[in-house]
Amino acid sequence: MKSFLILPGVDDEIADEDACKIEHNVNPETMRKLRKFVKFAKLDDGCTRWLDHFKYFDETGKYILCTPKDQEKCPIHSKRI
Ligand SMILES: [Zn+2]
Repeated sequence: MKSFLILPGVDDEIADEDACKIEHNVNPETMRKLRKFVKFAKLDDGCTRWLDHFKYFDETGKYILCTPKDQEKCPIHSKRI
């Protein structure tokens, strides 16, 4: 559960505390889905970089419409080496 909270950028200490609270209060099916979600998120091949796009959205409030056509203009993809 901690890894689920860290994904979108929750602070490590807060993630520790909250993971414990969540684990004791949610349906096992929810836990199963969240574990699978974390596994899926970590499989990102670096092309979509959707988590980086989310973090940009979190910091700036701006949503990036990032299609393969306009990745050069994307603040996340244009930083890529
Ligand atoms: Zn992008």
